[in-house]
Amino acid sequence: MSIIYGPVPSWRLGRSLGIDMVSTHAKTCSFDCVYCQLGATVSRQSERKEFVSLNSLRQELNHLPQIKADFVTFSGVGEPTLAKNLGAAIEIARRTLHIPIAVLTNSSLMHEPGVCEDLARADVVVAKLDAPDDNLLHLVNRPVFRLTVDQITEGIRSFRSIFAGKLAIQIMFINTNRQKAPELAELVRGFSADEVQVNTPLRPCPVKPLNPNDLDKIKRHFLEFKNVFTVYEASKPAVTPMDPQQTERRRPEAQQI
Ligand code: SF4
Repeated sequence: MSIIYGPVPSWRLGRSLGIDMVSTHAKTCSFDCVYCQLGATVSRQSERKEFVSLNSLRQELNHLPQIKADFVTFSGVGEPTLAKNLGAAIEIARRTLHIPIAVLTNSSLMHEPGVCEDLARADVVVAKLDAPDDNLLHLVNRPVFRLTVDQITEGIRSFRSIFAGKLAIQIMFINTNRQKAPELAELVRGFSADEVQVNTPLRPCPVKPLNPNDLDKIKRHFLEFKNVFTVYEASKPAVTPMDPQQTERRRPEAQQI
């Protein structure tokens, strides 16, 4: 299997069976986040295209062994919305596996035509927002194309207007943006999000995570939201990946997503 991997333990999605519709050998992303566990972005992409054919996905789904999973999650070595056939892939996975579908996105392309429609086929969308202003966006997420926080927030708002499923906003806090929780909470207020995930990079990466006490203080800025969790409050389900090598490529050391 080169497209389907896991299951991996996810701190908000339980046992998560991954589908990687970008599935290139090098990390392919529209961001180059300073905290990325996958290393530097080698393939710097902002144009949507087909990386993996739907036929290849069907073939892997047809050969999938019996798997216990709580979610099928579109994620992988890069940004899943770069795959132009994401919407069709979600429909195929839904029809074949009958497991709820989640997508983890960095939100960078949500303002583009077609991306929201593709994402709206999922049951859960976890959208990243780490920066309340363009300066921090360029320090933390380092987009590989011209992008502003206004474009990102506009994209998330228009997505919410067409999406009846669960929208979670995930914010990765590190030393660079830790003081910006009030501004980020103000932005999240405009999304009618169902959940806020207060995260810090616990997997090996060049940036030090914040400690549980710091993350707890940050969480206090988000208490008005219905569901708000920090990564330190999460429990880890026990999972055994089908193919440890393919899983390790997307989730080094099989840490939480
Ligand atoms: S968006 Fe995700 S995959 Fe892309 S650079 Fe950031 S953390 Fe890495």
